[in-house]
Amino acid sequence: MVKEQKTADVSFESLLKIFTIPEGPDSTLTKIDVSLSQNLNEFLREHIVAEEKPLHEIEKDFSSAQIPEQPEFVSDHTEHLLDTLVSHSVHTSAPSFIGHMTSALPYFLMPLSKIMIALNQNLVKIETSKAFTPLERQVLGMLHRLIYGQSDDFYTKWMHSAKHSLGAFCSGGTIANITALWVARNRALKANGAFKGVEKEGLFKAMKHYGYDGLAILVSERGHYSLKKAADVLGLGQDGLVAVKTDANNRIIVDDLKAKMAELEAQNIKPIAVVGVAGTTETGTVDPLPQIAEVCATHDCHFHVDAAWGGATLMSNNHRHLLSGAELADSVTIDAHKQLYIPMGAGMVLFKDPDAMKSIEHHAQYILRKGSKDLGSHTLEGSRSGMAMLVYAAMHIISRPGYELLIDQSIAKARYFADLINQQDDFELVSEPELCLLTYRYLPSDIRLALEKAQGSQKEKLNELINQLTQFIQKRQRETGKSFVSRTRLNPAHWQHFNTIVFRVVLANPLTTNEILSSVLEEQREIALQAPSLMAKIQKTVQKIHNS
Ligand SMILES: *Cc1c(COP(=O)(O)O)cnc(C)c1O
Repeated sequence: MVKEQKTADVSFESLLKIFTIPEGPDSTLTKIDVSLSQNLNEFLREHIVAEEKPLHEIEKDFSSAQIPEQPEFVSDHTEHLLDTLVSHSVHTSAPSFIGHMTSALPYFLMPLSKIMIALNQNLVKIETSKAFTPLERQVLGMLHRLIYGQSDDFYTKWMHSAKHSLGAFCSGGTIANITALWVARNRALKANGAFKGVEKEGLFKAMKHYGYDGLAILVSERGHYSLKKAADVLGLGQDGLVAVKTDANNRIIVDDLKAKMAELEAQNIKPIAVVGVAGTTETGTVDPLPQIAEVCATHDCHFHVDAAWGGATLMSNNHRHLLSGAELADSVTIDAHKQLYIPMGAGMVLFKDPDAMKSIEHHAQYILRKGSKDLGSHTLEGSRSGMAMLVYAAMHIISRPGYELLIDQSIAKARYFADLINQQDDFELVSEPELCLLTYRYLPSDIRLALEKAQGSQKEKLNELINQLTQFIQKRQRETGKSFVSRTRLNPAHWQHFNTIVFRVVLANPLTTNEILSSVLEEQREIALQAPSLMAKIQKTVQKIHNS
């Protein structure tokens, strides 16, 4: 409500005002607005409190299920939000927040996203988006060209063609992956003779028509969990997602892929797609894409590349060779809200063949009429925001060489951190950074030697204790430390594939310095001392191993 009287009340007149006239220049909201646009980092530092409040305490602020009967003034409510919500949110753009793919944003996106929200375009159809539709098609064209590098003529011909689509803009990598595999499924079970296609007749009739006993999607065991969701919603079932073994470097083993393909076909199960990962979520590894492409070609199978996180590497001419083979894929997922520094809700899937998305085309009477350029006829989602505008703006303001610098410095920093870890005798680098993601753990050399030497159950026991320590350090650092790294579980070949809990670091924020990286290790060393009983247990086991 607009501040006019002392207590807010419900009147149609004041309701009309919230659609038209904002509060004055001295209002809380206006001040926040200005400081957000002027110095984003300072705003965040000022408003996110450092001390950890347990979640169950925070839940008390969000405990009522009743929709308020009493309206509040905008300024009063904003104060309330700052106290209860903003203060206890996560400072994802802090330079010492190096645990996840969500990171800092360029400041210009704040005012630009206000324009986007003010315009409130709906990209599902031209009638509610006009110029935003060609803009989004151009953004898709730019990403398509980045991956597939087709000629200018190709883009002149297809980018704005009503009957074609180079891809789909969506809320993120999950929807992008589902969209790619939806196309793959519909093409594998397409219309044939009297059969009208799986999109018309459904999976049951499709399987009867083609005589298959099942369908499968193959990906390495490091595949993202969104693929499991895709297998589920597309009717394959989660068991339809077949995990292929990985090597010591966390890359898919192509021989195992070939063996699994043959095995499936012998069981009359049709592989509808193989997914190559270009930057796995846990280790940042890139699969051998050209070899996967070859397997797919032999089996006439859709080749999808999940480059949700790693795809942005293509922006760097110095590093794009790391993703070579992506141009052989039938479809590629890229998240702009990861390494392209766009706020969340910006995912894309690109298709090599401008005709590919025909198999998921949908039409309706009042919108998406046949022959229209409405984007909604090729998207899983319906109403969608003008998010593509922010990608468009960032592409122009940062430009390809700008992104190249950002990508190159992230990769260089990951290399620096890996070397730093290797120089310490109390840390172990568990996975090398191929892009700008690495994993490691705290493992003092005497413990490491004991773990090398130990056999059987003793080895398992010590490994389990080290896991507890890693977990303790990560949690304590998140709760009380100055920095944040995430953790995951790997099965390193070097340690006989034991379940190994590791720290996971994603270097994305250009403001993260080498000094911060050193202090992360220093902090972890200190935290390890805060677990004396666990350390005593570890030392006892180490002694036993040395004496045996
Ligand atoms: C992040 C990620 C996804 C999922 O993307 P969302 O945007 O979170 O839906 C899928 N695959 C990979 C490899 C990812 O890194």
